[in-house]
Amino acid sequence: MTIPIDDMAAFCKKKGLVYNTADMYGGLAGFFDYGPFGVEIKNKLKAAWWSYWVQSREDIVGIDGAIITNPSVWKASGHTENFCDQMLVCSKCAAKQRADAFIEEQTGKNLEGASAEELNSLVAENKLVCPACKSSFKEVKDFNLMFSTSIGAAGGDDAYLRPETAQLIFANFKLIQEHARLKPPFGVAQIGKAFRNEISPRNFLFRCREFEQMEIEYFINPTIQTCPYYAELENTHFYLLDAAAQEEGTENILELTAKEAVEKKIMHEWHAYFLAANISWFASLGVRPENFRIREHMKQELAHYSSACFDLEYKFPFGYKELLGVADRGTYDLGRHQEHAKKDLMIYDDDTKEKYLPVVIAEPSLGVDRSFLVFLYEAYDDDKERGNIVLHLHPRLAPITVSVFPLTNKLAGKARELYKALKHSFAVSYDASGSVGRRYARADELGTPFCITVDFEEDGCVTVRDRDTTKQERVKIEALTSYLRKKIEG
Ligand SMILES: [Zn+2]
Repeated sequence: MTIPIDDMAAFCKKKGLVYNTADMYGGLAGFFDYGPFGVEIKNKLKAAWWSYWVQSREDIVGIDGAIITNPSVWKASGHTENFCDQMLVCSKCAAKQRADAFIEEQTGKNLEGASAEELNSLVAENKLVCPACKSSFKEVKDFNLMFSTSIGAAGGDDAYLRPETAQLIFANFKLIQEHARLKPPFGVAQIGKAFRNEISPRNFLFRCREFEQMEIEYFINPTIQTCPYYAELENTHFYLLDAAAQEEGTENILELTAKEAVEKKIMHEWHAYFLAANISWFASLGVRPENFRIREHMKQELAHYSSACFDLEYKFPFGYKELLGVADRGTYDLGRHQEHAKKDLMIYDDDTKEKYLPVVIAEPSLGVDRSFLVFLYEAYDDDKERGNIVLHLHPRLAPITVSVFPLTNKLAGKARELYKALKHSFAVSYDASGSVGRRYARADELGTPFCITVDFEEDGCVTVRDRDTTKQERVKIEALTSYLRKKIEG
């Protein structure tokens, strides 16, 4: 069952997952604080991503770049000049709307990549007015989304909070490549915060002004286009909305395998691989693949340097929305940095004796906060039979893995001993308040996969209750750690 996004936000606050930032002061639009249980889920999801993409592979290494960097980076990347959204400003009350999103909402048209003229004429044609005071809008104008700040004492130099993590990978490209002794094809991954001064932040964690990205820039030698990993995942099932369907104004979904998408020349192997790998990563943590859709960008949406882009979208209650974009960036970024910094970023290939600028064949960039929402939506279940909400989070993502209960307070000593012993290996909580039924409900609502009740039996066993099936099993105390490990790893 899905719940509206505002109800999800209320649930997250109630359970200590996510708060409006500085809630006691009324919050601040587009900024959120993760609470004691939310931060656990978030850290675990980032660790799962890092393990999948970096630690278990030999072709991808990580970095952690600075949030504020030399502003020349943003000049070279084009952000200082072009990183803008178009804004509609009310002529009377000055209320601001992000033009494309607002007009899309009012007209149902897809306006990705629409020009200022198109937006202005749609406002006129549809007689759109300010939602706050019903007055007319001024002409749309560009608004740069970077947050600026200044460095040093008053009157210091202008700088920006990074609007994306990618540029730190490009700006360090040569050092990373040399130090990690990598040769294309290889990737560089980074998890970190980015900031965008969104005109209208909305949908809770979906569109924030401060957010976190998990990103990879993947570099290849442009003369070798084949992907050595693609065959492993070529049978992955895709639900695809292609550019042609969108140009015809339909939402017809093509169902096909990654392999068929490549054979039909809808996408190349690298894009098929990164899309399939992301779907498979989410699926390994319990997300149903049928809730994803791949959307091909139409020509007018593509950045001028990009030859193709596919979004991986998730079916949120407010519609299919982008989680991840897999784009071709060509040599645009390295080329720009080479030119602006006047440094050679070419790679010399010892085997072929050629020198070339690597191509970014794919840039899968996934939002941490958006992924957090996906896992919550997949897990959330208002279980009428139990009379409480159950979060069916994957055990690897649950904020608390095991909760230990004494059956009565007389067993507190024995139960606390077990609690302390398990704490070496798992995220464990101790709960002695209220009936055991009440304690099960509390654990369900936080997604705790295992509850252990310590009772008066003298058989050296405890009762382990499974969150999803509610089945109970007697398990020897000395076998508990290996029993739980097996369950968590599946
Ligand atoms: Zn107004």
